[in-house]
Amino acid sequence: MLNNKEVNVLIVDDDPFNRHFLTRILSNAGYGVKEATCGEEALVKAKIEKPNLIILDVNLPDITGYEVCEQLKLNPNTEFIPILNITATYTKNEDWVHGLECGADNYLIKPIDPNVLRAIVTTMLKNESIERQLRIALEEADAANDIKSQFLANISHELKTPINVIVSALQMANIIVKDIESLDIKNKLDKYNGMIKQNSYRLIRLINNLIDMTKIDSGFINMTKHNIDIVKTVEDITLSVASFVESKQIELIFDTDVEEKITACDPNKIETIMFNLLSNATKFTDAGGKITVNMFDRKEYIIISVKDTGIGISDEDKDKIFGRFLQVDDTSHRNSEGSGIGLSLVKSFIEMHGGKLTLESTYGKGSNFIIKLPILTIDETKEKKEYSISPNYVDKMKIEFSDIYACS
Ligand code: ADP
Repeated sequence: MLNNKEVNVLIVDDDPFNRHFLTRILSNAGYGVKEATCGEEALVKAKIEKPNLIILDVNLPDITGYEVCEQLKLNPNTEFIPILNITATYTKNEDWVHGLECGADNYLIKPIDPNVLRAIVTTMLKNESIERQLRIALEEADAANDIKSQFLANISHELKTPINVIVSALQMANIIVKDIESLDIKNKLDKYNGMIKQNSYRLIRLINNLIDMTKIDSGFINMTKHNIDIVKTVEDITLSVASFVESKQIELIFDTDVEEKITACDPNKIETIMFNLLSNATKFTDAGGKITVNMFDRKEYIIISVKDTGIGISDEDKDKIFGRFLQVDDTSHRNSEGSGIGLSLVKSFIEMHGGKLTLESTYGKGSNFIIKLPILTIDETKEKKEYSISPNYVDKMKIEFSDIYACS
């Protein structure tokens, strides 16, 4: 907190007697005082002097104190300076209310009692000091957060290069392994190569998620929308993971009440959303369980539900899992590694499409992630694109499922 000498109060009053009276009280209390005789001078001095408090007469010769208040609050350089309105003319309750609505923080009717003035000024300056310190702390925290985000964005890109080199080198190594004659050595190398590949994919997934996360935070995430048949898209993605899911003795069902529904969306993001929800459903469902992907036509929007008969999510954790870095700690599923970023990205991607993600879940019985996606089409100058799963979808799927499946 500043000591009184470091505190500056600007007194705005056209009456020299009033200015002198107020200046004397505040100077005696140890405050630095500046004076202005009209509204325009007050606005200029507020910007230059940046006082800690303004005592502002409402009845001024040029513009009213109310207008001065409004202009001070509209200017980012002066918006946080507290204002004490004083008046002998505007004494009705509605004047008081109007002053506060214009941005004043307090109101005093003349004649002013010196003790009341000192008490009010002390309280207002105490609050101003706390608010200023909070603002500084917030600015520092924002700056530190920006540095952290920038570092995360840089490091994620830096990590991507070596990991891509590892995966490419591994592909070359796999070609060479094929020529090895000894079956024993070949099998061992295949096993170790598989481990390297799976763990490289897990790193790629983490890095991709971090990159997307930083892009969302900085508002630089690209959406490339096309008018596509969302039913076929979701069906193709679901079927593409069927053998993976079924190899875990989990039944996978796709069902829809509509054959075709054209909507504008980013097919890449839809792939990420679906792979994420399907891999989670697989991760948290035991052998013998079932995953059902249902699509329901609601005319202006489409519902996509990814429902599993897995471990479910407790009421307490339902909201938390859409936040970042959170994983519900379930010791029976600790082999289900992950960073806890996936669902927050899924939620952001759905919201970027104007949609909504909700969760219905009963702990111990299963979960149902429900996507509500609006049906909108865009003017596409180019000819209509037929969606097909991206050519590298097998790799993409393996990356998304890398927490669960060994790669071959
Ligand atoms: P990650 O990126 O690590 O896969 P997510 O954000 O996708 O993490 O998921 C966060 C947490 O939400 C998971 O660790 C798990 O506790 C819970 N969760 C997500 N999907 C399911 C599901 N289908 N069944 C049970 N729990 C789930």
